Amino acid sequence: MIEYEVARSLVLSSGKTLPPESVLLAEALGRTLAKDIKARENVPPFTKATMDGYAVRAEDTRAAGRDNAVELEVTEDLPAGRISRKSVGPGQAVRIMTGAPLPKGADAVVMVEDTEKSGGRVKVRREVGPGANIGQAGEDLKKGELVLEGGAVIGPAETGLLAAAGLARVPVVSRPKLAVIATGDEIVEPGDRKGPGQIRNSNGPALLAMALRTGADAKYLGIARDRSSSLRAKLARAKGADILVLSGGVSVGDYDLVKDELRTAGVRPVFWQVRIKPGKPVFFGRRGSQLVFGLPGNPTSAMVTFLLFVRPAVERMLGRTNPGPSGGRAVLAEDVVLKPGRTQFLRGVLDAEGAVLNVAPYADQKSGVLRSMVHSRVLIVVPADVSRLEKGRDVEILYIDGA
Ligand code: AMP
Ligand code: MG
Repeated sequence: MIEYEVARSLVLSSGKTLPPESVLLAEALGRTLAKDIKARENVPPFTKATMDGYAVRAEDTRAAGRDNAVELEVTEDLPAGRISRKSVGPGQAVRIMTGAPLPKGADAVVMVEDTEKSGGRVKVRREVGPGANIGQAGEDLKKGELVLEGGAVIGPAETGLLAAAGLARVPVVSRPKLAVIATGDEIVEPGDRKGPGQIRNSNGPALLAMALRTGADAKYLGIARDRSSSLRAKLARAKGADILVLSGGVSVGDYDLVKDELRTAGVRPVFWQVRIKPGKPVFFGRRGSQLVFGLPGNPTSAMVTFLLFVRPAVERMLGRTNPGPSGGRAVLAEDVVLKPGRTQFLRGVLDAEGAVLNVAPYADQKSGVLRSMVHSRVLIVVPADVSRLEKGRDVEILYIDGA
């Protein structure tokens, strides 16, 4: 049996970043950037008005005020999208709309609210300094500047920034192909008829959902029965996957055939059993470059071990900067007493009180109780040698489904 940190690093060192592919920006949401992106042009590309008003030479507005208007000659009307060919000379102004390029000679914009139009002239009733109400060329991004780093996940803001930088297509890391197989003689798909002694297959759908959420190109291959022939047929179908995830059949029971069958199918074991709770029987092995995970069948154990081991593997293949569940710290809302010996991952309920993030263990920590995963947003990490944690101390937490 090995420690959690050792197991985690064995997984991380087994996966490599997959090759890049190019996708349309509109299809890049949630994908991972394959390389650093530099700005090909200034954003914004020109200095522009950020208010509707009049482009002026700031010095011409000196001493202007509510009761002391400065009158300027209006030489032109400039909407957004048009370039002025003229230059603003002393005593002159150009009527300008938000987003229009600042004409030559001007160095500020007076807001329309601070002016009064009279024929071909405008009365300015406020002094402005150079740079007032204008956006400088390149103030968002300078040409050649780093826009986003490789490994970044593309969210809505990143999408906007990439669009502003002029990218129609984006280099992203290929999504790892991941196959999910559920095992067990007793499990039945939701929707199928359930006989005596049978239970619903919750791991298949839950693990598939976790895989998709993590960014894998995930496929569900159905249920293998606790028989060699059935397992073999399913394993054969998973050959092309980068990551294979099985649930159930990795304990020490008479019908726990998964480890043996994996070996027969050419999977080289890396570890079996990790000093953690829940999830101790977890298996990890490799078949060529394919990573194979045998997760325990208990629904919460399956989900927790997916989070602790499979998710880092997926994210490593995606080239993410910090693979694995995101973590943080929270203040423990009650005393916790535990049996030491294994690193424990308690399902925890978060509660923010003002600026303080509190966490309390979910009342029922039994590994068969899947409801606990719905009500808990985090896992509380308790080191193996700890038997008691006092209320009020801060503890490490891992987010179950994003931060
Ligand atoms: P196993 O790891 O195969 O010994 O299974 C441990 C427990 O998890 C047993 O109570 C199984 O019935 C249950 N279990 C196994 N696979 C699934 C599944 N796909 N969905 C829900 N429960 C499961
Ligand atoms: Mg089983």
